[in-house]
Amino acid sequence: MDARITIIGAGVVGLAIAEKLSKEFRDVFLIEKHTTFGQETSSRNSEVIHAGIYYPKGSLKSRLCVEGKRLLYDYCKKYDIPYNNCGKLIVATSEDEISIIEGIKKTAFANGVDDLIIIDRNQIAEMEPSVYALKAILSPSTGIIDTHSLMKSYETGTINNGGQIVYGSEVTGIRKVKDGYEITLLDSDKNYYAFTSHVVINSAGLTSDKISEMVGLTDENLKILFCKGEYFRLNPPKNRLIHRLVYPVPVHNLEGIGIHVTIEMGGGVKLGPDVNYLESNTYDYKVTPSKQEAFFRSARKFLPFLEFEDLSPEMAGIRPKIQKPGEPVRDFYIKEESERGYPDFINLIGIESPGLTSSLSIANYVRNLIRI
Ligand SMILES: Cc1cc2nc3c(=O)[nH]c(=O)nc-3n(C[C@H](O)[C@H](O)[C@H](O)COP(=O)(O)OP(=O)(O)OC[C@H]3O[C@@H](n4cnc5c(N)ncnc54)[C@H](O)[C@@H]3O)c2cc1C
Repeated sequence: MDARITIIGAGVVGLAIAEKLSKEFRDVFLIEKHTTFGQETSSRNSEVIHAGIYYPKGSLKSRLCVEGKRLLYDYCKKYDIPYNNCGKLIVATSEDEISIIEGIKKTAFANGVDDLIIIDRNQIAEMEPSVYALKAILSPSTGIIDTHSLMKSYETGTINNGGQIVYGSEVTGIRKVKDGYEITLLDSDKNYYAFTSHVVINSAGLTSDKISEMVGLTDENLKILFCKGEYFRLNPPKNRLIHRLVYPVPVHNLEGIGIHVTIEMGGGVKLGPDVNYLESNTYDYKVTPSKQEAFFRSARKFLPFLEFEDLSPEMAGIRPKIQKPGEPVRDFYIKEESERGYPDFINLIGIESPGLTSSLSIANYVRNLIRI
């Protein structure tokens, strides 16, 4: 075998796995089709360190988020990654929503998130004088992070550990061979070449279903649907009116968690993301200016100072969803595929939010699936 372990995809998850495994194993390769890391979902998200409030009890999303949050804060301190443990409010703006936030607090407690506090109108006014809410949940452990610095640190760690990162090379084929897999790459000069690897880890984000199909694992249940989320910016000077993350009460099946207010490390504030399944899996990152009205109406419920002109189109990201529209929430799919006839082939599919928060705990989980 040319490589012991090959990881496909240098997003935040593939990079975290590469850093972890290169510490322990020799001949670890990370393959990325773009010329540098994090060019897809990992640089088009809210950059929130989630507390793990909403996910179903016992799910990987819940466990890996709660553990990942702790690991990520420790990592940020150790490696000087910019972050802000700013906290988050989930606001109830009507009597009906008050009972919903009480339910959210109970679910979160069962998931190991035991630091949530319900605060009243006066306490909200002290913390966020410009926000309207009758009651709110305060999540003190939620925060924000500079994702680019995090990915850069994972990349540096991988290289320092002796791991090899190959940019500008797209995986176009995978074939099972004796003791491993043959992987075919197309490089930036349009040349094909192949090498063998004992272990393959598919961390290819939006095309992870296609990578799985390349080896022979076709599964309707694991088809990725591109689900776009658009953001609008809250223009200065009103961005200065908000100091933490502010979320409305989420919709029941968690296709998204509502148009929320996200603060950024640089002091900017954005609203979003919304939820829109694309008809075909195209990389459509356009922001639709006509959505400004809907964003304005939705956020104005808890931001009474907001005027239509305070918003401007910002950016979009695409979630790699395996949950079909209207279906109950789906968990991360992270499996070593021996049972389906592909030993030492590890699939990560549907790594949507909280994938950034969970990057280090996912890396640990994947480590435990490796048998060499
Ligand atoms: C709108 C939005 C908001 C979000 N907000 C948050 C948040 O606040 N907090 C949070 O924790 N999570 C959030 N997430 C989720 C988080 O961004 C993702 O879970 C995370 O970025 C996934 O990382 P990844 O490495 O799995 O995928 P990606 O970043 O998509 O990386 C996959 C990589 O694989 C490469 N690749 C694909 N196919 C091939 C191939 N054939 N050959 C070589 N390379 C290939 C791609 O080029 C890409 O670089 C959000 C996601 C979205 C869309």
